[in-house]
Amino acid sequence: TPTSQTVRDRASAALLERARDVIPGGVNSPVRAFRAVGGTPRFIASASGPWLTDVDGNRYVDLICSWGPMILGHAHPDVLAAVQAAAVKGFSFGTPSENEVALAEEIVSRVAPLEQVRLVNSGTEATMSALRLARGATGRSAVVKFAGCYHGHVDPLLAAAGSGVATFALPDSAGVPASAAHETIVLPYNDIAALEAAFAEHGDRIACVITEASPGNMGVVPPAPGFTNALRRITTEYGALLISDEVMTGFRCSSAGWFGLEGEPEGGAPDLFTFGKVMGGGFPTAAFGGRADLMAQLAPDGPVYQAGTLSGNPVATAAGLATLRGCTPEVYARLDVVAHTIADAASAALAGHGVPHTVQWAGSMFSVFFTEGPVRNYQDAKAQDTAAFGRFFHSMLDSGVHLPPSSFEAWFVSASHDDAAVEHVLSALPAAAAAAAAA
Ligand code: PMP
Repeated sequence: TPTSQTVRDRASAALLERARDVIPGGVNSPVRAFRAVGGTPRFIASASGPWLTDVDGNRYVDLICSWGPMILGHAHPDVLAAVQAAAVKGFSFGTPSENEVALAEEIVSRVAPLEQVRLVNSGTEATMSALRLARGATGRSAVVKFAGCYHGHVDPLLAAAGSGVATFALPDSAGVPASAAHETIVLPYNDIAALEAAFAEHGDRIACVITEASPGNMGVVPPAPGFTNALRRITTEYGALLISDEVMTGFRCSSAGWFGLEGEPEGGAPDLFTFGKVMGGGFPTAAFGGRADLMAQLAPDGPVYQAGTLSGNPVATAAGLATLRGCTPEVYARLDVVAHTIADAASAALAGHGVPHTVQWAGSMFSVFFTEGPVRNYQDAKAQDTAAFGRFFHSMLDSGVHLPPSSFEAWFVSASHDDAAVEHVLSALPAAAAAAAAA
């Protein structure tokens, strides 16, 4: 376990000890515990623009960005103003309010096939609800998902999930009943033949295929040319629905997410979409949506039940709306520049030290795999040298750059990553590449 000589982590270590008494593992989401990379997770005291400040007073350029939501940077003035203006009017009503209508309109206006969305509180709730809707609408129960795709901690979708589940090398989770997992068919990503075979065998009981629009939870693995078309063709042929999970890609890959980049598949748009992260601007709000006839299956108009005390929360929706409105063409252009500058430099540094790696892209979303490419699926991603990544991660951390603490994650940038922040990242890379090389 690499431990830092240069960076003070005393206050973080003390907080972790306190946290462990009252919070399992000391964290409220497993990947935060640094188990894949070792060492002490940094407790963050504050954040502004591209910078995090921890409780020991260390500053880091943030390449996690809350795992995607902070696309404009931390505490962006426009978002902060919107949050403050909403908060003074009350925190939650449990009645309809205008902000939720405005946020739904903003989302629907960006992604052409969407006619309606329902707001929920997390990406997990969005995929859970979309799955229930697909099952309700088709009267079938099986679901196809792809190994390495993470759709939140929904029982039937946890099988062979990426992200934290990949980090922990858990094939599944304890506590998921066999009856829930039994209805899940897990296939290798980017494998049309496997998809055809699964439908040939189980097609009459498959309610839906759920896929990350462009997977980011095993690292970034975009769909191979023709794969999304095949998903659409085969689901249509068998009367199953296609759910495109854009929780990570939504409003990040482009103003219309991955859909905006790849366009409509041959044979029609996905039936349902899920969103989260960016659309909440750092607050707990997410959504699922699709065609109006399908969404009409939801209560109160239809038989599929779904609800939430805090759904459409006025403060969260204000933050989301301000964030989406702030996602201008200039913002996307800046994300592109920042992402490419950092990725190119990381690749050059690693190449300079002979560290096997490959960088993969979905728009400006990218990740650096510590293995030779191409990475087409979870199997390929698992070939990574996670120890080399751990050394790289800790060197970067010691130099004041906070990467995601796992090699199975995208690196997230924001439009607030200015030249000084980017320069800081670039200056940290040579030593980190050397550390990665030094087994
Ligand atoms: N789907 C995808 C594609 C995600 O990346 C995530 C979160 N990383 C989720 C669903 C779950 O979202 P949440 O963590 O908000 O429940």
